[in-house]
Amino acid sequence: MSFAPDSPLVQAVVASPNRGARAGDALDMLILHYTGMPTAEGALERLRDPAAEVSAHYFVFEDGRVVQMVPEAERAWHAGAGAWAGVRDINSRSIGIEIAHPGHAGGLPPYPEAQIAAVARLARDIVVRRAIPAPRVLAHSDVAPARKEDPGETFPWERLAREGVGHWVPPAPVRDGRFLAMGDTGQPVEALQAMLALYGYEQPVTGGFDTAMRAVVTAFQRHFRPARIDGVADSSTITTLRDLIAAQPA
Ligand SMILES: [Zn+2]
Repeated sequence: MSFAPDSPLVQAVVASPNRGARAGDALDMLILHYTGMPTAEGALERLRDPAAEVSAHYFVFEDGRVVQMVPEAERAWHAGAGAWAGVRDINSRSIGIEIAHPGHAGGLPPYPEAQIAAVARLARDIVVRRAIPAPRVLAHSDVAPARKEDPGETFPWERLAREGVGHWVPPAPVRDGRFLAMGDTGQPVEALQAMLALYGYEQPVTGGFDTAMRAVVTAFQRHFRPARIDGVADSSTITTLRDLIAAQPA
């Protein structure tokens, strides 16, 4: 069951049986997760438990140690039901990194420096080797907004972008003023829905701001405008989204 690591940054292989063949040849996404469990050891064990039916390609400890659990050529079971830019089988198209962290349930503490440095190095190694486009380095919450909130708003996406990982623009400052929120309807809601969908979120254009849309706006804020996570599309949220779309690599 063991295998040779794909990245020179791997310190140990701890193989998980929870893996299978990828559907198709495309591999062009990198999904970041937190484990959301009190201890790294418990999380690592769960990711190898056949009964749990979950896994990831990589696991990063708080102190920065990197373990590989599934060969990159195979499909790990980290993303579950979700979608991005029309892709529904995220697991077949992606590499998944699990970051040992207690999550929202554990008070969402800051990520340790050694761990973030290791995640940045590993992610950079993967996106370079696999030629993964910057806008396809995503949070689990981006691809499953209604179900997931990891790796959470304390994950330092801006820093990763400085190190060549992921897509980022400086968020527009939070100010009072006009906004769109739950229950709103009409053309401005429709326009925002179209922008979210254009960027890649699974967001139907219905003209109604419902609970599913609130989850998408919240996911967007966790990743791209972490100063306020409220699911309200204020002008800062909308401007940041517009700037991201404008800055998309060709
Ligand atoms: Zn996750």
